Amino acid sequence: MAKNALPSAFENFADARKEGFLTVKNLKDEGKKVVGTFCAYTPVEIFLAAGAVSVGICSFSDETIPEAEKVLPSNLCPLIKSSYGFAITEKCPYMYFADLIVGETTCDGKKKMYELLGDIKNVHVMQLPQTQTDEASIEMWYKEVLALKEKVEKEFDVTITEDDIKAAITIKNEERMLLQEFYNLSKSCPPPITGTEQLKVLYGSQFKFDYESKNKELRDVIDKVKKDYEDGVENVSKSAKRILITGCPLAGVTEKVVTAIEDSGGVVVAFENCIGVKTADRLVDENEEPYKAIADRYLQIGCSVMTPDTNRYDLLSRLVEEFKVDGVVEMTLQACHTYAIETAQIRKLMQDRDVPFISVETDYSTADVAQLKTRLAAFIEMLV
Ligand code: SF4
Ligand code: SF4
Repeated sequence: MAKNALPSAFENFADARKEGFLTVKNLKDEGKKVVGTFCAYTPVEIFLAAGAVSVGICSFSDETIPEAEKVLPSNLCPLIKSSYGFAITEKCPYMYFADLIVGETTCDGKKKMYELLGDIKNVHVMQLPQTQTDEASIEMWYKEVLALKEKVEKEFDVTITEDDIKAAITIKNEERMLLQEFYNLSKSCPPPITGTEQLKVLYGSQFKFDYESKNKELRDVIDKVKKDYEDGVENVSKSAKRILITGCPLAGVTEKVVTAIEDSGGVVVAFENCIGVKTADRLVDENEEPYKAIADRYLQIGCSVMTPDTNRYDLLSRLVEEFKVDGVVEMTLQACHTYAIETAQIRKLMQDRDVPFISVETDYSTADVAQLKTRLAAFIEMLV
């Protein structure tokens, strides 16, 4: 069988974050407004409807952590320290260009960091409920979504019409359906692509700001991968152990976890984390009142900041079946209490389903690369 050369279309996504810097600068020069976001709970349809560009500004590098630790405690999640560090050092162009930063009251570390960030940037914090099913929480989040719309209209001096928000919902749903189609390709045995390749597209797609051309590029990647697979191109060994990754957001330096898995005879078939299935699995209902539909869709995202986090458990249970997973690897970031505590429940969930499970804790340094490799190689070796 032919061995695959990495489809060149992946490369369009691999460098998207870096290339997006210039795109955002040009968009700013044209008078576009830029919104920086931190979390999967942020209803980005509102920015799209307002004609603004939104971009994820969670940082995944240890470069600015020493600066951040002059203000923040060192025993804090590296994502929070890194993101704040990039803000105070003005080293992240997205953060620098952002006219507005929107955060949510998710974990304690993030919400307290937003207070400090508010001293140097224009920050709007949405009050995120901690439960997903009671009427008061649902109503509260709906009001927060309406308040965000009003904030954006006032800040950017625009009026978001019903048609604007409906069009934004439609195009964002189109992107989600394409992402679903893309990552669902890895349900095949063997999967047509590696986890490293899948991650390039999932992560890179966040830094493409023209939705029409992004959706065309996604279509193109899907078609290429499908065609190669149908033509018998073999990219992944049939014997590779099928791994699902869950836990804290994963990108940048934490890709070391994916590398350790794939260098040890495993292949990552599904990413449940933010940037993966969690963010694309649910659509906004296009037949409902738009803001209610947006609020309902976003509030149901499974994350350890929710209590109980039933939707994460349900999604994981479904994914291990659908992707015929041999083992689950959870990655938690140091000092992320909500995910670290929830590990006990995820371990039990997997035990009940007879799915081998390992949880690894890491940070944004490369000091633990060898240790991760040893632990994950041993885990994969024992999978049957
Ligand atoms: S893990 Fe939870 S708090 Fe963190 S970005 Fe994702 S949804 Fe938001
Ligand atoms: S990884 Fe954990 S501690 Fe860090 S920002 Fe996300 S929820 Fe908060």
